[in-house]
Amino acid sequence: MRHAWKLGRLAGIDVFIHATLWLTLGLLGVSAWLAGASLPTILGGLSLMIAVFGCVLLHEFGHALTARRFGIATKDIVLSPIGGVARLERMPRKPGQEVVVALAGPAVNVGIALLLAGVVFLTNSSAAWQLERLAESFAGRLLVANVLVAALNLLPAFPLDGGRVLRALLSIRFGRRRATRAAVFLGRTLCVGLALLGLVQSPMLILIAVFLWIAGTAELRAVEMTSEVAGRRLHELFVPPRTVLFANHSLGAAALSSLRNGREAMPVVDSGYRLLGVLPHPVLMRAVTQFGFEPPVSEFMETEFRQAAPEELIDSCLPKILAGEGPLFVVEDQRLLGTIGFSLLGRFVELERALTTHQESRGQSDSAKREGGSRGVRS
Ligand SMILES: [Zn+2]
Repeated sequence: MRHAWKLGRLAGIDVFIHATLWLTLGLLGVSAWLAGASLPTILGGLSLMIAVFGCVLLHEFGHALTARRFGIATKDIVLSPIGGVARLERMPRKPGQEVVVALAGPAVNVGIALLLAGVVFLTNSSAAWQLERLAESFAGRLLVANVLVAALNLLPAFPLDGGRVLRALLSIRFGRRRATRAAVFLGRTLCVGLALLGLVQSPMLILIAVFLWIAGTAELRAVEMTSEVAGRRLHELFVPPRTVLFANHSLGAAALSSLRNGREAMPVVDSGYRLLGVLPHPVLMRAVTQFGFEPPVSEFMETEFRQAAPEELIDSCLPKILAGEGPLFVVEDQRLLGTIGFSLLGRFVELERALTTHQESRGQSDSAKREGGSRGVRS
């Protein structure tokens, strides 16, 4: 995870904090101090912010732990200034499961808000329920924040939780692809509205709109790709690796290969062509910086890599192909057969579309000829 610090591991899921969140907290503190706020006010404000992000983290755990009940693992959870993201290994395919996973996040915030309501009720007189009085206490402010987090996430803008619920419901009738297109269209409309509101309200809203637009587009692409490759198997599409290193090759030989073949991660095999590891470009550069050209690549290769068997379905491997950098290795009996990466898939889908368009237009011109011919006979 780039530009993010690991906070720790909770319930088997790594939690990261993006650098920009630290920066935002720091900037808010400094600007409050420059504006003449007292130290207790600044600390109070910052601790409220931290508590809100704690609640956002619990929201993400709501998604992650519910997904786990359906057998879907979560890679990690990342907190950033515009919220949190639980990176699930894949999205649930069954609409019912997707609805439950999507609603689990906001449900956590509603739960926290109810708990805080109890605290406010027990520690204050009945007058505490007026909104302006609610903002006086820490618990009251955290309560309002949780209601806002739940409400914002339930907006029907894909890929917000509300948008996911909408997509799942639409997909029952229209199929996943058309449902995602509709949900993304609605999401984009809302992004434009949010950005316009941001112009007069807060630049933060523009940032959130841009983020939602990009995330929605990326997921639409993944869904479209999934439907294009549905039913096909890896052996129909993989290509031989552009370059292969043997374990006893030197770093110098690896560097020469990368000069010729680009920055792609290079597979490392033994004499029987069994895949032993992978040498990513940044690892190669660090190793050369420290140790020069002499040592063998086997000392620096990474032994954890993404692999799949040639018989596996491409669409079920798609999360592995889309995740992270570098290709997915196609391996049979430990032997390396080839690779399949995101750009290869993209080119394949492009080609398939071109062919379909060609066939459709030929079909149309053929039937136009037939119609023209029969009219000719009739006249
Ligand atoms: Zn959520």
